[in-house]
Amino acid sequence: MTATCPICGAEQAEGLLCHACTTTLERELGDVAAIVAELDISLSKQARIGNAGSPGLARERTPINVGTVDPRWILDNVLGTWARDIMGEPDARWSPAFVPSRSPAITASRVMLSNASLIRRHPAVTELVDEITDAIAQARRAVDRPADRVYLGQCYVETPDPDGKQVTCLAELYASPTACEVQCKVCGAEHPVGERRAWLLQRAADMIVTVKEASSYLGEIGGIKVSQSSIRGYLHRGRLAYRPGVENGIRLGDLLNVVMDESERKSA
Ligand SMILES: [Zn+2]
Ligand SMILES: [Zn+2]
Repeated sequence: MTATCPICGAEQAEGLLCHACTTTLERELGDVAAIVAELDISLSKQARIGNAGSPGLARERTPINVGTVDPRWILDNVLGTWARDIMGEPDARWSPAFVPSRSPAITASRVMLSNASLIRRHPAVTELVDEITDAIAQARRAVDRPADRVYLGQCYVETPDPDGKQVTCLAELYASPTACEVQCKVCGAEHPVGERRAWLLQRAADMIVTVKEASSYLGEIGGIKVSQSSIRGYLHRGRLAYRPGVENGIRLGDLLNVVMDESERKSA
């Protein structure tokens, strides 16, 4: 009889958590710090909204997700519980290079990452993987994941800080691909998506990029679909020229002019 990985059932001679499942878990644990940072931003926005009104208002505001427990609490508890369990093992390692984080979840994820071999042969590895994966997934859902979003640059709105001093908001803005407006998660300013896109494109006009980069940049930032083959077509027909700086590079502003020109011709 061959032994298998308790999670995916793949053959694993000693019945340990297999290499692939361990890697997946490590990747999840490696994301914890970034997720906690995102959750912090969501919460600081909540705090700002609370501060803006009367002192009693903050408590009346709903938490990040109505009807659910704070995902940070879940992360801290689930990860913390398993990390303490792991640290109770005689062979547990704690690298002094890891300064404990102010976030229990981050500290716990570091403990687990430095003890992957103990996790692999943990008698309750199935529960460990299920609970940890679940807690991280919940936290991910609670923050708007930039990965499914369109990047719209930094906010740059002047906003008073808690001491009433004017500061420039440097929060990164992300919007869903279909949104018309995007609200800054930190200062609450509203930005029309169309204007943001035009502004970003204008700022990027002098960038020299490859054909592939130009296609994805105009698509992601500008919401303008222009395939690599159409760009090559423009180059071939002499409507666009390579520019020095990058091998086979083109200037984004040049491409934008051609694309605008083209769409005017089509609509004429
Ligand atoms: Zn596996
Ligand atoms: Zn802002």
